[in-house]
Amino acid sequence: MKLLTICLAFVAAVFAAQDTPDYEGYHVVYVIPDTEHQVEWLMQLEGKDGIDFLKSTRKVGVAAEIIIPKEQVSSSYKLFSMLEMRYFTVTENAAADLKRNFLMRNDKPRVFDINDFNTFEDILAGLDDFVARCPSGASCTLEDIGNSPQGRPIRLLKITKPGTRKIVWFDSAIHAREWLAPATNLKLLDAIISQQDSNAVSLFNKYDFYFVIVMNPDGYVYSWQDFTTRFWRKNRSPNVGSSCVGTDLNRNYDANWLNDGTSTNPCSDTYGGSSAASEVETQAVQNYLRNIGSNIISLTTIHTTAQMILIPYGHTDANGECAYPSDHQDQLAAANAFADGIENTFGTSWDRGTVCTTIYPASGATMDFAYDTAGIKYSFTPELRGPGFDPPASAIQPSFDEVWNGVVDLMAQIETLEGKQ
Ligand SMILES: [Zn+2]
Repeated sequence: MKLLTICLAFVAAVFAAQDTPDYEGYHVVYVIPDTEHQVEWLMQLEGKDGIDFLKSTRKVGVAAEIIIPKEQVSSSYKLFSMLEMRYFTVTENAAADLKRNFLMRNDKPRVFDINDFNTFEDILAGLDDFVARCPSGASCTLEDIGNSPQGRPIRLLKITKPGTRKIVWFDSAIHAREWLAPATNLKLLDAIISQQDSNAVSLFNKYDFYFVIVMNPDGYVYSWQDFTTRFWRKNRSPNVGSSCVGTDLNRNYDANWLNDGTSTNPCSDTYGGSSAASEVETQAVQNYLRNIGSNIISLTTIHTTAQMILIPYGHTDANGECAYPSDHQDQLAAANAFADGIENTFGTSWDRGTVCTTIYPASGATMDFAYDTAGIKYSFTPELRGPGFDPPASAIQPSFDEVWNGVVDLMAQIETLEGKQ
């Protein structure tokens, strides 16, 4: 344990938070824990400011994916060796890989493509196309639930049928760089609009569907700006008294704000903002969910990358122990159905459990607000498959295939739990 503490202190000292790294000479490394002790070490390392995990791990034998700044490469490798941790280098110059991918994307004519990653503008155009393809007898409506500080819409697409029906909600891209999340979400939207799949028909016979593809428009646009901004996570609001920009919107909700797993340093990727719901993006979603929460049967807020289905809560109680909601048993049963449905598709392994116990304590997230304040009993955060490092477009289809199966099983399980047939 002493070695662990020394190593963590060492790492905290050598990894410095950088607001806009250039990624020249940065290594991307897979680190594979072989013991519970090593898993614990990696978990603690992930909580440190300035250490960028593209993929989390909580399991022996499952690799974490970390970006290491040039100056810290040799000391980090020494540290991994000292801890007898297996690692291998994915790239020795992240900038070169990111630049190549950026140029390839810029080479493509800009048009909405459901099988590729899309810019914010292309997603807005794509939403218009979906509205034009609305299933017969249904209504497809766009509604801006708010605007970002730079004036971009937080746009919601509602697919409804006449009458009062429960709502199934999906959102994504609150963390700008997690591009596989909006890409997968668009495929879910496409499945509902297309009505080609018998499960999609059956689900839409019962429920209305609401989709927000980009919860953090300014951050998402910034993540497309250049290869050096590809890994931007927060929004783009300036911070008073700091040259560092942005708040982690998924730490900014008025749900045990700043309780745990949130940084008070504006340069940190997990900076929680100046107060609960200080950000206009957060306020917009909070107000909207407060109004319609009682009609939402399930809310899924999609992230990457860890292969997990997370449920409330992220925060800890007065004793520093992970807090559990009173609905935990039902929520866990639903999460198990969701994760099993995913696993049964390609055999990928998915963890399931509360944020605090499964990944790390983290308060002020969309999901906890949705449950605690908007009254949405079934609120989930899937952490999708990898790879975390700028995934290729070929990751989109398998991600959708497995998540879709998970959603089908999830809704069946919720119906069983709520006593509906
Ligand atoms: Zn995320």
